[in-house]
Amino acid sequence: MKIDEEKCVGCGNCVSFCTMGVIRIENGLAVVNEDECVECNTCYRCCESEGLNPTLVRALRKLFAVFRLRYDGRIDVCPTGALTPPELEWPRSLRRAFSDPTVAHDSTGMAGRGTEEIKTNDITGRIGPGEAGVVIDLGRPGTGVFFHEIDRMTRALAPLRVTFEPENPLTALMIDARTGNLRDDILQEKVLSAIIELKVTLGDLRDVLNVVDDVAGTLDTVVSAGVSSRCDSDGGVPHERVCVEAGYSLSPNGKTNLGLGRPVTFGD
Ligand code: SF4
Ligand code: SF4
Repeated sequence: MKIDEEKCVGCGNCVSFCTMGVIRIENGLAVVNEDECVECNTCYRCCESEGLNPTLVRALRKLFAVFRLRYDGRIDVCPTGALTPPELEWPRSLRRAFSDPTVAHDSTGMAGRGTEEIKTNDITGRIGPGEAGVVIDLGRPGTGVFFHEIDRMTRALAPLRVTFEPENPLTALMIDARTGNLRDDILQEKVLSAIIELKVTLGDLRDVLNVVDDVAGTLDTVVSAGVSSRCDSDGGVPHERVCVEAGYSLSPNGKTNLGLGRPVTFGD
């Protein structure tokens, strides 16, 4: 995010909206730490421009200060429209694609960090009997995640006979989905968060969970994992036993897809 120095009056409104906490007020002006900014545009979207004249606003602020008056203005505005989303070039443009939910990825044409996962599995049939879907969520507001951290996770998972979801934007950034290597030119870019999506046989699920756990402990960010599978004919959840035996408890707010869409057949 760029801040127009000519326009900024240092009101500080944008500071509280920054998802990464990287805007500070210095010498009466807002300054963005560009290395840590993930170009999510949240500050811009939340602080509507009032379009006021910066000279006038500065003069009024000084006048109010002299008389120790406090102006109780709106906090969801940039009085002078100083916040200016820049045109981004590759690879920095990836920051916005992954961090701003209103922007679509060039690779998939879809906005957001991942796909519909198993939520529409009754139609897509992505996860079949005997398989588990795994989503690994890296990064959060306030922390973010570098692609070199995601790369460590995908390279560690690739040898475990996993299939990375081809529609996921991270998969599109791999040099080779068999090795999990991401492109070298993006590794120093940072995003708010990203989701690795893969499927694996239930037999290999335990190894995948253990690797996620091991690698997560080496990363300077937040990692969470979700597992899904098709229910058995008796309503059992096949991945539950694998997860519990591996030492992981399942969240009580798990979801069940009732399969009310168009049914798929798996030929068995
Ligand atoms: S909201 Fe606008 S004027 Fe206020 S500190 Fe941020 S950029 Fe400057
Ligand atoms: S674009 Fe996002 S990360 Fe960058 S300064 Fe604005 S809110 Fe903060």
